[in-house]
Amino acid sequence: MKGITEIEKFQRIVVTCRKCPRLVAYLQEVSKHKPRRYREQDYWSKPLPSFGDPDAQVLIVGLAPAAQGGNRTGRMFTGDRSGEWLFNALYQFGFANQPNSFRRDDGFKLHDAYITATIRCAPPKNKPLPEEIENCRSYFLKELDLLKNVKVFIPLGQIAFTQTLKSLRLHGLEIPALAFGHGKVYPLPNGQTIITTYHPSQQNTQTGKLTRPMFHQIFKLVLNKLKVRS
Ligand code: SF4
Repeated sequence: MKGITEIEKFQRIVVTCRKCPRLVAYLQEVSKHKPRRYREQDYWSKPLPSFGDPDAQVLIVGLAPAAQGGNRTGRMFTGDRSGEWLFNALYQFGFANQPNSFRRDDGFKLHDAYITATIRCAPPKNKPLPEEIENCRSYFLKELDLLKNVKVFIPLGQIAFTQTLKSLRLHGLEIPALAFGHGKVYPLPNGQTIITTYHPSQQNTQTGKLTRPMFHQIFKLVLNKLKVRS
Protein backbone atom coordinates (compact mmCIF):
# COMPACT_ATOMS: atom_id res chain seq x y z
CA MET A 1 0.00 0.00 0.00
CA LYS A 2 2.91 2.31 0.73
CA GLY A 3 3.97 2.11 -2.93
CA ILE A 4 0.48 3.00 -4.12
CA THR A 5 0.35 5.99 -1.81
CA GLU A 6 3.72 7.21 -3.00
CA ILE A 7 2.70 6.85 -6.63
CA GLU A 8 -0.58 8.65 -6.00
CA LYS A 9 1.22 11.51 -4.31
CA PHE A 10 3.62 11.71 -7.21
CA GLN A 11 0.79 11.72 -9.76
CA ARG A 12 -0.93 14.56 -7.95
CA ILE A 13 2.22 16.65 -8.26
CA VAL A 14 2.62 15.85 -11.95
CA VAL A 15 -0.86 17.07 -12.92
CA THR A 16 -0.15 20.51 -11.46
CA CYS A 17 3.10 20.97 -13.40
CA ARG A 18 3.46 24.10 -15.53
CA LYS A 19 7.14 23.92 -16.40
CA CYS A 20 6.66 24.19 -20.18
CA PRO A 21 4.89 27.44 -21.11
CA ARG A 22 4.53 26.48 -24.78
CA LEU A 23 2.70 23.28 -23.85
CA VAL A 24 0.53 24.92 -21.18
CA ALA A 25 -0.60 27.44 -23.81
CA TYR A 26 -1.11 24.74 -26.45
CA LEU A 27 -3.35 22.66 -24.18
CA GLN A 28 -5.57 25.67 -23.59
CA GLU A 29 -5.79 26.23 -27.35
CA VAL A 30 -6.70 22.58 -27.93
CA SER A 31 -9.56 22.73 -25.44
CA LYS A 32 -10.88 25.91 -27.06
CA HIS A 33 -10.81 24.51 -30.60
CA LYS A 34 -12.21 21.00 -30.30
CA PRO A 35 -13.08 19.00 -33.40
CA ARG A 36 -16.80 18.63 -34.02
CA ARG A 37 -16.90 14.98 -32.86
CA TYR A 38 -15.62 15.93 -29.39
CA ARG A 39 -17.30 19.31 -29.07
CA GLU A 40 -19.45 18.26 -26.10
CA GLN A 41 -16.58 16.75 -24.14
CA ASP A 42 -14.60 18.41 -21.36
CA TYR A 43 -10.94 18.06 -22.17
CA TRP A 44 -8.45 17.13 -19.46
CA SER A 45 -5.87 19.58 -20.93
CA LYS A 46 -3.35 19.18 -18.12
CA PRO A 47 -0.28 17.01 -17.66
CA LEU A 48 -1.26 13.34 -17.71
CA PRO A 49 -0.36 11.15 -14.76
CA SER A 50 1.20 7.79 -15.55
CA PHE A 51 -0.98 4.81 -14.62
CA GLY A 52 -1.07 1.08 -14.06
CA ASP A 53 -0.01 -1.55 -11.57
CA PRO A 54 2.47 -0.07 -9.06
CA ASP A 55 4.03 -3.54 -8.69
CA ALA A 56 4.46 -3.92 -12.44
CA GLN A 57 7.30 -5.88 -13.97
CA VAL A 58 6.68 -4.24 -17.35
CA LEU A 59 7.10 -0.49 -17.90
CA ILE A 60 5.83 0.89 -21.20
CA VAL A 61 7.25 4.27 -22.17
CA GLY A 62 5.29 6.29 -24.72
CA LEU A 63 6.36 9.49 -26.40
CA ALA A 64 3.72 12.09 -25.49
CA PRO A 65 -0.05 12.29 -25.05
CA ALA A 66 -2.14 12.86 -28.18
CA ALA A 67 -3.97 16.21 -28.21
CA GLN A 68 -7.35 14.62 -29.07
CA GLY A 69 -6.65 11.32 -27.28
CA GLY A 70 -5.09 11.11 -23.84
CA ASN A 71 -5.16 14.87 -23.46
CA ARG A 72 -8.91 14.74 -24.02
CA THR A 73 -9.74 11.75 -21.82
CA GLY A 74 -7.22 12.38 -19.03
CA ARG A 75 -5.37 9.09 -19.24
CA MET A 76 -2.41 8.10 -21.38
CA PHE A 77 -3.34 6.37 -24.67
CA THR A 78 -7.02 6.33 -23.69
CA GLY A 79 -9.34 7.20 -26.57
CA ASP A 80 -6.75 7.29 -29.33
CA ARG A 81 -5.67 4.98 -32.15
CA SER A 82 -2.27 4.15 -30.70
CA GLY A 83 -4.04 3.20 -27.49
CA GLU A 84 -6.31 0.81 -29.37
CA TRP A 85 -3.27 -1.11 -30.55
CA LEU A 86 -1.46 -0.95 -27.24
CA PHE A 87 -4.44 -1.87 -25.04
CA ASN A 88 -5.49 -4.67 -27.37
CA ALA A 89 -2.01 -6.22 -27.24
CA LEU A 90 -1.88 -5.81 -23.46
CA TYR A 91 -5.23 -7.58 -23.19
CA GLN A 92 -4.19 -10.40 -25.56
CA PHE A 93 -1.13 -11.10 -23.42
CA GLY A 94 -2.79 -10.89 -20.02
CA PHE A 95 -1.67 -7.43 -18.94
CA ALA A 96 -5.10 -5.74 -19.13
CA ASN A 97 -8.67 -6.67 -18.21
CA GLN A 98 -10.30 -5.15 -21.34
CA PRO A 99 -9.27 -5.04 -25.00
CA ASN A 100 -9.70 -1.27 -25.22
CA SER A 101 -10.44 1.82 -23.18
CA PHE A 102 -12.23 4.95 -24.30
CA ARG A 103 -12.66 6.82 -21.01
CA ARG A 104 -10.60 6.93 -17.86
CA ASP A 105 -13.56 5.70 -15.80
CA ASP A 106 -14.53 2.67 -17.92
CA GLY A 107 -13.00 0.05 -15.61
CA PHE A 108 -9.88 -0.61 -17.66
CA LYS A 109 -7.10 -1.95 -15.43
CA LEU A 110 -3.54 -3.01 -16.03
CA HIS A 111 -1.99 -6.03 -14.36
CA ASP A 112 1.78 -6.27 -14.04
CA ALA A 113 2.18 -3.37 -16.47
CA TYR A 114 2.54 0.38 -16.02
CA ILE A 115 2.37 3.10 -18.66
CA THR A 116 4.32 6.32 -18.65
CA ALA A 117 5.66 8.71 -21.28
CA THR A 118 8.68 10.78 -22.20
CA ILE A 119 6.62 13.93 -21.72
CA ARG A 120 3.23 14.28 -20.08
CA CYS A 121 1.65 17.18 -21.96
CA ALA A 122 0.53 16.89 -25.58
CA PRO A 123 2.89 18.85 -27.83
CA PRO A 124 1.92 20.56 -31.10
CA LYS A 125 2.26 18.09 -34.02
CA ASN A 126 3.34 15.40 -31.53
CA LYS A 127 6.80 16.98 -31.50
CA PRO A 128 8.18 17.98 -28.10
CA LEU A 129 11.11 20.40 -27.95
CA PRO A 130 14.36 19.12 -26.44
CA GLU A 131 13.97 21.43 -23.44
CA GLU A 132 10.46 20.10 -22.81
CA ILE A 133 11.79 16.55 -22.75
CA GLU A 134 14.43 17.68 -20.26
CA ASN A 135 11.83 19.48 -18.12
CA CYS A 136 9.80 16.28 -17.87
CA ARG A 137 12.70 13.92 -17.24
CA SER A 138 12.64 14.33 -13.46
CA TYR A 139 9.21 12.66 -13.37
CA PHE A 140 10.48 9.60 -15.22
CA LEU A 141 13.49 9.43 -12.92
CA LYS A 142 11.12 9.53 -9.94
CA GLU A 143 9.09 6.69 -11.44
CA LEU A 144 12.26 4.62 -11.76
CA ASP A 145 12.59 4.97 -7.98
CA LEU A 146 8.93 4.26 -7.23
CA LEU A 147 8.38 1.29 -9.54
CA LYS A 148 10.62 -1.16 -7.77
CA ASN A 149 9.67 -4.38 -9.58
CA VAL A 150 10.30 -3.35 -13.17
CA LYS A 151 12.13 -6.02 -15.13
CA VAL A 152 11.32 -5.06 -18.71
CA PHE A 153 11.11 -1.64 -20.37
CA ILE A 154 9.19 -1.28 -23.62
CA PRO A 155 9.90 2.15 -25.07
CA LEU A 156 7.50 2.84 -27.93
CA GLY A 157 9.49 4.22 -30.83
CA GLN A 158 12.92 5.72 -31.25
CA ILE A 159 12.50 8.90 -29.20
CA ALA A 160 11.16 6.99 -26.20
CA PHE A 161 14.01 4.49 -26.61
CA THR A 162 16.66 7.24 -26.68
CA GLN A 163 15.14 9.03 -23.72
CA THR A 164 14.72 5.83 -21.70
CA LEU A 165 18.40 5.08 -22.21
CA LYS A 166 19.36 8.61 -21.21
CA SER A 167 17.26 8.44 -18.05
CA LEU A 168 18.62 5.03 -17.08
CA ARG A 169 22.17 6.33 -17.50
CA LEU A 170 21.36 9.36 -15.36
CA HIS A 171 19.92 6.93 -12.85
CA GLY A 172 23.37 5.34 -12.57
CA LEU A 173 23.44 2.51 -15.09
CA GLU A 174 26.39 2.18 -17.42
CA ILE A 175 24.88 1.37 -20.79
CA PRO A 176 26.84 1.38 -24.05
CA ALA A 177 25.49 2.92 -27.25
CA LEU A 178 22.55 0.81 -28.45
CA ALA A 179 20.89 0.85 -31.86
CA PHE A 180 17.15 1.29 -32.23
CA GLY A 181 15.12 -1.18 -34.26
CA HIS A 182 12.03 -3.33 -33.87
CA GLY A 183 12.22 -6.34 -31.57
CA LYS A 184 15.70 -5.82 -30.19
CA VAL A 185 16.33 -7.25 -26.74
CA TYR A 186 18.93 -5.46 -24.66
CA PRO A 187 19.85 -6.85 -21.23
CA LEU A 188 21.00 -4.14 -18.82
CA PRO A 189 23.79 -4.46 -16.26
CA ASN A 190 21.31 -4.46 -13.34
CA GLY A 191 19.29 -7.43 -14.67
CA GLN A 192 16.53 -5.34 -16.28
CA THR A 193 15.91 -5.59 -20.03
CA ILE A 194 14.89 -3.16 -22.76
CA ILE A 195 12.76 -4.57 -25.59
CA THR A 196 12.33 -2.18 -28.50
CA THR A 197 9.37 -1.68 -30.80
CA TYR A 198 8.18 0.71 -33.45
CA HIS A 199 5.58 3.08 -32.03
CA PRO A 200 1.97 1.94 -32.72
CA SER A 201 1.21 5.34 -34.26
CA GLN A 202 -1.18 5.54 -37.19
CA GLN A 203 1.77 6.59 -39.31
CA ASN A 204 3.33 3.18 -38.66
CA THR A 205 0.23 0.99 -38.42
CA GLN A 206 -1.51 2.38 -41.51
CA THR A 207 1.58 2.07 -43.67
CA GLY A 208 2.31 -1.48 -42.56
CA LYS A 209 5.61 -0.53 -40.98
CA LEU A 210 4.16 -2.04 -37.81
CA THR A 211 1.73 -4.96 -38.15
CA ARG A 212 -0.25 -6.72 -35.40
CA PRO A 213 1.95 -9.84 -35.59
CA MET A 214 5.06 -7.64 -35.28
CA PHE A 215 3.60 -5.84 -32.28
CA HIS A 216 2.44 -9.06 -30.64
CA GLN A 217 5.91 -10.50 -31.13
CA ILE A 218 7.16 -7.86 -28.68
CA PHE A 219 4.82 -9.13 -25.97
CA LYS A 220 5.87 -12.72 -26.65
CA LEU A 221 9.45 -11.60 -26.04
CA VAL A 222 8.32 -9.89 -22.83
CA LEU A 223 6.51 -12.97 -21.52
CA ASN A 224 9.49 -15.10 -22.39
CA LYS A 225 11.79 -12.76 -20.50
CA LEU A 226 9.54 -12.70 -17.43
CA LYS A 227 9.26 -16.49 -17.45
CA VAL A 228 13.02 -16.89 -17.67
CA ARG A 229 13.48 -14.54 -14.74
CA SER A 230 10.75 -15.83 -12.43
S1 SF4 B 1 5.63 18.30 -20.37
FE1 SF4 B 1 6.19 17.59 -18.32
S2 SF4 B 1 7.54 19.18 -17.51
FE2 SF4 B 1 6.43 20.10 -19.23
S3 SF4 B 1 4.61 21.06 -18.31
FE3 SF4 B 1 4.02 18.99 -18.96
S4 SF4 B 1 4.32 17.72 -17.13
FE4 SF4 B 1 5.45 19.63 -16.80
